[in-house]
Amino acid sequence: MKAFVLATKNPHKVEEMRAILAPYDVQLRPRPDEVPDVDEIEDTLEGNALLKARALANATGEAAIADDTGLFIDALSGRPGVHSARYAGDGVNFEENVNKVLRELDGVDVADRGAHFRTVIAVAYPSGASWWVDGVLEGSILSEAKGQGGFGYDPIFAPADEGGRSLAELTLEEKNERSHRGRALRSFVVALENS
Ligand code: IMP
Repeated sequence: MKAFVLATKNPHKVEEMRAILAPYDVQLRPRPDEVPDVDEIEDTLEGNALLKARALANATGEAAIADDTGLFIDALSGRPGVHSARYAGDGVNFEENVNKVLRELDGVDVADRGAHFRTVIAVAYPSGASWWVDGVLEGSILSEAKGQGGFGYDPIFAPADEGGRSLAELTLEEKNERSHRGRALRSFVVALENS
C-alpha cells in the first residue's frame, strides 16, 4: 500500500479521488489542519499542482499528491483555464462562475461552444523528487445549467458522446469513469506501478 497526503480539502474532489482510487493499492491521507494550503501563483495547472504537492511534502515529510484542474473554453481563448476557481472574482461560489461563463457565451453558436476539462495530478516526495500526469475530457458548454450532481462547472459541461447530458446529470460512477480527474488518476496509478 502506497500512502500520500492529499493537498486538496475540496470535499467534492476528495470524494471523487477516493472513489476513483478505491480499486487500487493507494491510500490518501487528509492534509493536517496545521499545514496551510498554498496560493496558486503559477500560470499553468502543472505549475500549481507541483507547487501544492512540493509544499505539502516539505511540511509533512511524507509523499504528497495534489490536483489542479481547469475548464478551457475554445470561444474564450481558453478561459477560465488556470483561473477557474476565481473566475467571477475572489470568494465567489460555483453558481457565480457558471453564470459568468453563460453570459460570456450568450449568442455563441452550438458548434462553437467546444471546451475541455484538464486535471493535473502532481506527486512530490520529501527527497525533492516530483512528477505529474494529466487527464483531459472533451465536450461543450451548454446554454443553461442542468443536473444536480457533481460540482463547479459540471452543470454546464456536456461531455462529447453523452447525448447532451451535462456532467451534473451523470452518476458519480459515470463521471469518474469518463472524467479528466478519473483519467489523470488512472495514469497516476500506472506511473506508480512502473516506478
Ligand atoms: P482547482 O483545481 O481547485 O483550482 O479548481 C478550479 C475550479 O475548477 C474549481 O473551483 C471548480 O469550480 C472547477 N472544477 C475543478 N474540477 C472540476 C470538475 O470536476 N467539474 C467541474 N468543475 C471543476
